[in-house]
Amino acid sequence: MLLTNDPVLKAIDSTVEAIRQRATANWILAFSGGKDSSAALKIFLAAYKKARISLASVTVIYCDTGVENPILDAYVRGLFGKLNQELGGLSASFKTHVLKSPLHDRFFVKIIGRGYPPPTNNFRWCTTGLRIKPVSAFIARHDPANTVVILGLRAAESQQRDRSLAKSANLYWQKQREGKGDYDLFLPIVELNVSEVWDAIFGLSTPTSLDPSTLETLYRGASGECPIIKSPQAPPCSSGRFGCWTCTVVRKDKSAKELIRAGHLELLPFLNFRDWLSEFRNNPSKSLTHNEFV
Ligand code: SF4
Repeated sequence: MLLTNDPVLKAIDSTVEAIRQRATANWILAFSGGKDSSAALKIFLAAYKKARISLASVTVIYCDTGVENPILDAYVRGLFGKLNQELGGLSASFKTHVLKSPLHDRFFVKIIGRGYPPPTNNFRWCTTGLRIKPVSAFIARHDPANTVVILGLRAAESQQRDRSLAKSANLYWQKQREGKGDYDLFLPIVELNVSEVWDAIFGLSTPTSLDPSTLETLYRGASGECPIIKSPQAPPCSSGRFGCWTCTVVRKDKSAKELIRAGHLELLPFLNFRDWLSEFRNNPSKSLTHNEFV
């Protein structure tokens, strides 16, 4: 029974209930390094400690596309090393795992090797191969019927998602329909707004390896995360989000600009190349007719 109106504590208590209901499930937490999945991780760990029961298996996964923003990628990899040790100390059933997109789905293999244009909002071919497929394949190998995937999705993020989530009786639980087996999604931060997400990140102590101040500094100027689960609730790529340094779906890479402004000058060549890719794609004189191509 929930005893509080504090949104973060309510999220923790809802997660405690979920953990108690599904103690024998494979729990998989999809971690991108951004604020939402960081808050989801913190709330899950706070709930795990409060629930005082053991779980069969908990895996924190990160999907390495090969073209992640190098600053964020270095941050997540550093964090993952420490997290692996810290979580292992909590319970032997906790682990971390880095997924990679297969070579044939990589960004430059598709662009240089196959002639795909740099992605746009209307032709966003990249998310499926780079993020969604590796995550789906990982889940498919882990008995989907007995799997709960924890996602850092928030209802307040978009009206479209609000409408979609409003159809479920319990906002925290969603069903993910997949060809290789349906599985459950659990959304611990579904009812939180942005400031409550930061409250969770700064207010909850575990994992200590996740330093809120570092994340806040990295996050300045970014507003979302590229989705790794294909679901009706998943957000479209939002401007200035953490994700691939090559991303031409956004008109301007505000996140990279903010990081450069904060002193990460090593990102400048990446940003210039991304801008060139975007301009090249938008220039009709650079495209070939079919006859010229063959
Ligand atoms: S961040 Fe951009 S380029 Fe990377 S997968 Fe998402 S939409 Fe595609």
